[in-house]
Amino acid sequence: MRNTDTTIFETRESQVRSYCREWPAVFDRAQGAHQWTEDGRRYLDFFSGAGALNYGHNHPELKKRLIDYLTGDHVVHSLDTHTVAKRDFLQTFQDLILTPRGLDHVVQFPGPTGTNSVEAALKIARKCTGRQAIVSFTNAFHGMTLGSLAVTGNSMKRAGAGTPLYHSDVAPYDDYFDGETPDFLWLDRTWSDSGSGLELPAAVIVETVQGEGGLKAARAEWLRELESLCRRHGVLLIVDDVQAGCGRTGTFFSFEEAGITPDIICLSKSISGYGLPMALTLLRPELDQWEPGEHNGTFRGHNPAFVTATAALALFWADDRFQQQVASRAEQLHTGLQHIADSHEGAWVRGRGLLAGIAFEDVETAGRVQAAAFERGLLVETSGPSGEVVKVMPPLTVTETELEEGLELLTQACAAVTT
Ligand code: PMP
Repeated sequence: MRNTDTTIFETRESQVRSYCREWPAVFDRAQGAHQWTEDGRRYLDFFSGAGALNYGHNHPELKKRLIDYLTGDHVVHSLDTHTVAKRDFLQTFQDLILTPRGLDHVVQFPGPTGTNSVEAALKIARKCTGRQAIVSFTNAFHGMTLGSLAVTGNSMKRAGAGTPLYHSDVAPYDDYFDGETPDFLWLDRTWSDSGSGLELPAAVIVETVQGEGGLKAARAEWLRELESLCRRHGVLLIVDDVQAGCGRTGTFFSFEEAGITPDIICLSKSISGYGLPMALTLLRPELDQWEPGEHNGTFRGHNPAFVTATAALALFWADDRFQQQVASRAEQLHTGLQHIADSHEGAWVRGRGLLAGIAFEDVETAGRVQAAAFERGLLVETSGPSGEVVKVMPPLTVTETELEEGLELLTQACAAVTT
């Protein structure tokens, strides 16, 4: 008989806030945009591991490559040695992603997960500029380790860890004032004035869409102004594309639409293509200044992840067909969300591409919608400082029919909690 009991998690797993508290079920199998519980209930997964599953669960082609690699007894762990799997990944990433976009960045493997990429970015920015401060934005999310947390614009999360924002500052993100555009004049002035009390920072770190912080999306114009501010003052621009990257917003990098070129780019989540831990920090060549052993770690680049990552790039990014498909699904999603928002007072659509959702004026609503969606077979997460946004993040490979079904379930869930 199957054990469908969840009490083991409640008694044996740390009771930190975690997603499974929102979803009282035990999942066992997954394919594409679906997950099944151990007792066979089917759920549409529009959570996608918070962006780690852009190509869906267990994509058959990627699975085959992974199985072949493992059954062939190829190298799995390879600290400090070159491997064929790593070489293939680097070549493919260069040929399909960097070269076509005119980027000459070098690739660093900072560790297994997103926060490792951010930590590496902050460290190298400080080392290369000899400066300490980092400017980040209101409601930003960059990770849970101390450095990343120090630039995460959420005082509750920072305060608990006692993380200092040493000599650093938090600037208002685009649309922070809901409709009023924050300009960069104060940063421009204070950075030029040595008596201002605000140090010239090593870098500015920004997300183009605030994945965890409420799905506000920066306008292209705002990002371009930010880039030119940084250039004028010799401040490095870091784009944290951990969640918005790998196609989520429609292009491989989320900043492509704005036409900016960050000095440092953080990638993780979907880069392995298969939900395996993997992270990259991309650096302009002149920033590649680590001394040997100065920034290392045991799990920096895992060969099975290189294998699935290489296959995912070839499968999805060799031409622009996939990008067109993502654009169509994004249009369908935004139309559907707008439809739902239009029929609820105090509800707005937020986000860009397939990183979108509905913000509710009444901050309790989103959590209730999430629970009602779960009851109907749809997994969606909440986002924002008070969890006021229902975040809808299907895999990029979602079909038109699956998306239609998910939007219908969301419509029902919203109607059930707001009427
Ligand atoms: N940056 C951004 C933009 C993220 O959304 C996240 C994770 N949600 C991180 C960094 C941290 O990644 P990880 O949880 O893999 O450490």
